[in-house]
Amino acid sequence: MRPILYRKLGRFDLWVLNDGDFWLDGGSMFGIVPRVLWAKLAPPDEQNRIRLGLNPLLVRIGERYILIETGLDRKGDERFRKIYGLSETSPVLGQLALLGLGPEDISLVIHTHLHFDHAGLNTRWVEGRLRPTFPQARHLVQKQELEDALHPHERSRASYRAENVEPLWETGRFEPVEGEAEVLPGVRLVPAPGHTLGMQVVELESEGERLAYTGDLVALMAQVPPLYIPAFDLYPMTTLETRKRLYARWLEEGYLLCFTHEPGHPLGRLVRSEKGYAVEEA
Ligand SMILES: [Zn+2]
Repeated sequence: MRPILYRKLGRFDLWVLNDGDFWLDGGSMFGIVPRVLWAKLAPPDEQNRIRLGLNPLLVRIGERYILIETGLDRKGDERFRKIYGLSETSPVLGQLALLGLGPEDISLVIHTHLHFDHAGLNTRWVEGRLRPTFPQARHLVQKQELEDALHPHERSRASYRAENVEPLWETGRFEPVEGEAEVLPGVRLVPAPGHTLGMQVVELESEGERLAYTGDLVALMAQVPPLYIPAFDLYPMTTLETRKRLYARWLEEGYLLCFTHEPGHPLGRLVRSEKGYAVEEA
């Protein structure tokens, strides 16, 4: 398993955590891209699934710790865990402990969106009760995303799990954001619709250095070509528009990208290529 990756970004400290692997249908991850092309980039297993990671990003700004995404949901039953190839327990709290942190040290959680593979550690079972994992944290999410997670459409019902959303909603821990917002100096939420209508990416900037946490706008390095859009995306044409708009700026302004589901090295930079864009590890 990839070890915790540490980087400095200006005055910010970053740790890319590693929530372990899970497995999803490869065809669904690449949409209209023919299997002969994607299978070279992401070799499928005998069930046609490809390996994905989940990389929550811990950011320290001064004395404050921010967690971008909480990770995979392991509260489902054995069948659920088997479908997605999930281990039984989350390694994220153990990784925070290695850094000398407990869940109460996280003061802010930022969600790109609330699908179960991104918001799964929002809650956990403690003595038979489902409780918020990070008791001190405000949870930032786009208002649209929160509404869709609380009242999912039948097309996305399998992606949202009430266990990760309702206990926080009922205790007032969500802080819905509408549109672009600088929530702390150098921490900007940028709407990135397509995968869901309310998805956002997170942009960090300190002393001229910049990083974007991509969410599921582009979850894997192999998905960087703008047309490599998952079949999971609810609005693929919108994904294409969002990618082109944000890619252009990320390239021009020299953004480092942190790829949410990359199972290997998760950081890279965009470069121009014959497919529009490619990525180089960084
Ligand atoms: Zn995802």
